[in-house]
This record gives sequence, C-alpha cells and structure tokens, in this order.
Amino acid sequence: MPARSFRIAEPSSIQDFLDYVKRTGAKSKPLAGGTDLLHMLKQRALGKRTEATQLVDLNYLPELKHMKMTEEGFAIGAMTSLSELEESSVVKDLYPILGTALSTLATPLIRNMATVGGNICQDFWCWYYRAEGNAFDCLRKGGKTCPAISQGEGEHEWNYSIFGGIDGCVAVSPSDLAGPLAVLGAQIVLMTDAGVKQLPVIEFIKDFVVRKIDAPWLLTGLLVPRPLPNSTSAFTRFSFRRAIDFAVVSASVQLCFDKQTCIKARLILGGVYPTPQRCARAERLLEGNVISEDMVQNAAEASLEEASPLPKNSHKLQISRGVLKRAIFEALKGR
Ligand SMILES: Cc1cc2nc3c(=O)[nH]c(=O)nc-3n(C[C@H](O)[C@H](O)[C@H](O)COP(=O)(O)OP(=O)(O)OC[C@H]3O[C@@H](n4cnc5c(N)ncnc54)[C@H](O)[C@@H]3O)c2cc1C
Ligand code: SF4
Repeated sequence: MPARSFRIAEPSSIQDFLDYVKRTGAKSKPLAGGTDLLHMLKQRALGKRTEATQLVDLNYLPELKHMKMTEEGFAIGAMTSLSELEESSVVKDLYPILGTALSTLATPLIRNMATVGGNICQDFWCWYYRAEGNAFDCLRKGGKTCPAISQGEGEHEWNYSIFGGIDGCVAVSPSDLAGPLAVLGAQIVLMTDAGVKQLPVIEFIKDFVVRKIDAPWLLTGLLVPRPLPNSTSAFTRFSFRRAIDFAVVSASVQLCFDKQTCIKARLILGGVYPTPQRCARAERLLEGNVISEDMVQNAAEASLEEASPLPKNSHKLQISRGVLKRAIFEALKGR
C-alpha cells in the first residue's frame, strides 16, 4: 500500500522547527531516522483523521547530533543514532547498561538509521493500532473501543500490559532504551515555546502517551547523570528471537553499595505497562541490606504485587519475575 502524499519541511534551526509546527498544527510530525514513522505512513495505519501530512525533517538540525561529557553528566543529542551511542567510548566505559540494551535492540542496520529521540518517541507497536489501512479505529485514535481487550476477545498475549492501561489503552512502551535510561536517572530535554524543559524519563513517556505536552515541542536530547560511586547495573530481556524482535519483558537494574550493603536500588520492568514500570516495593526490600538470594526472590515477587494481568497474559508474570531476577544477579556479578 503506497503512503498518502505528504510534505517535508527542512527547518534550519530549532526555532524554525517550533514556528513551523505552530503554523501547521496537529498534522505535522518530526521525522528522525524514519524507521518507525515511515512504516506507519506506508501502512496508512492511522487513517485520514490522525495521519501526519507534514513531516519536519530533523536531519537538517546538526545541533541535535552530539555526545558530550559535561559537569552535569552525559549529554546526548536527540539525533544521535543508536549505533553511534552504542559505539561511544563513554557508554562503553561508564554506562555499559546502555550498551547492553542497544546491542540487543532491532538490527545493526536499523540502529544505524534510528535515533535516540525516535526510540523514546516511537509509537506503540500494537498490531491493531498499526494494522494496514486503519483497520481498527481504536481508543488511541479517538475510536470507541480497544480491540485488543474488547469483551476479552482480542489478542493480547504478549505486547500488552500486566499493570492495567492508560486511558483504556493497554499497549506497552516499546523502547528498550527507556528502562536503562530511567534507572540511570536520565532527564529528557525538551525545547518548547516557553523554553527548555527537563523531565525524568518515565514522567516524559507518560505525558507523551497521553499527549499532554502542548505543541510545539521537540525532544532535543538526554542528560544522563554521572555514574554513582560504587554502583553496578544490568539490562536483560526476554524475546522469542535474539534479533529483530521486541522484548516481551525487559528489566533494568542499578544497585549502589556501601561496602556490602545495598544503599540504593533502582529496578524497572519494560514491556509490562504503557510506560517503563518502576518496582518501588522491590527496591525497598533490597535497600539497607546485604542482598541474599532469598531477597532477590522476594524482590521479584514484590515487583508484581500490584500486577493485574489481562485474561490471556498472566504468563508474563512468570517471565517478569525471571527477567528481573536475572538482571539483579547480573548486576551483582558486575560489582
Ligand atoms: C524490525 C524492527 C525491530 C525493532 N526492534 C526494536 C527493539 O527491539 N527495541 C526497541 O526499543 N525498538 C525496536 N524497534 C523500534 C526502533 O527502535 C524505532 O523504530 C526507532 O528507534 C525509531 O527511531 P527513528 O529515529 O527512526 O524515529 P522516526 O521513525 O523518525 O520517529 C519515530 C517517532 O518519534 C517522533 N520523533 C522522532 N524524533 C523526535 C524528536 N527528537 N522529538 C520529538 N519527536 C520525535 C516521530 O515524529 C515519530 O512519531 C524496532 C523497529 C523495527 C523496524
Ligand atoms: S491497546 Fe491501545 S493502541 Fe492497541 S488497540 Fe487498544 S487502544 Fe489501540
């Protein structure tokens, strides 16, 4: 199915971008690597009502393509490609959790094209939502039902939430980069009409999912704080294939120690909710303790205490437990 015709604008500055989006309104969308957006357009997945007809090409904004270690931390421009980030010596030396997540994501070819900003802002990979020719006009498109769960009939075994939905939508956050960034305490940097704004990763994704951010805005980059002393981290994922497959569940873990005692734990599950899911109860079980095997087991159980799986996806509980435990043990090994 050929894509509907669309215009492409080539802004020469971030201000130019914001002005253009202000003029063209809801029909305009930033174009980064295009690995997600062009697929959606080609599928005509969103239908005439919500499909973008004006793309604003970010490849003309060189100021969005940078990586720099600063006093505050590691600043990453939104147009940095995933392979550039993966290859960065800063990632290899200071943030190996990012490298692990990137190396398992999609394929090398896609990572060459795809950008950091595009990975965070990619749309849901719910197959009803993405079905060719807007076959299902679901809640997320302003329709009346969610075919993934209507009357318990829909297919929601894998890429759907086990912690409920947001505004009735139970598709999960697809970004494998978001979890590791969140455990590292990264901030998303936005440029809006009112100036620069920074938001923690999970908060940003929540606002993005519910379309709460007033246009015009642009994700210009990320700021990852300097690694905490005596900290260790790990990322693991469960997917059906090793390559070219989204994670069914992923886990990102950061642990900080004072001698043998864990003084800070950050545990995040991916693929289980429309945003990365912080496991605060499980974190509290580890903090202040010398972590034992039993404690890891208890933390994995606690991480799912508030889960409410859909009729056909309770198997994701067991997968989540396993993936989180594996990530905690990996992190402990890396001390
Ligand atoms: C076969 C395949 C397998 C994949 N596997 C995985 C996987 O395992 N894990 C994973 O995490 N991802 C996976 N992906 C998704 C992939 O990572 C995304 O398609 C990619 O990161 C999007 O980046 P992009 O630069 O191409 O974005 P684009 O396609 O250009 O844009 C994506 C969306 O983000 C918006 N956007 C882009 N940049 C900005 C910005 N700076 N500010 C505001 N909005 C912006 C666009 O308007 C668009 O809505 C896979 C994709 C494919 C095709
Ligand atoms: S899960 Fe969300 S995106 Fe998928 S069909 Fe339901 S409302 Fe639409």
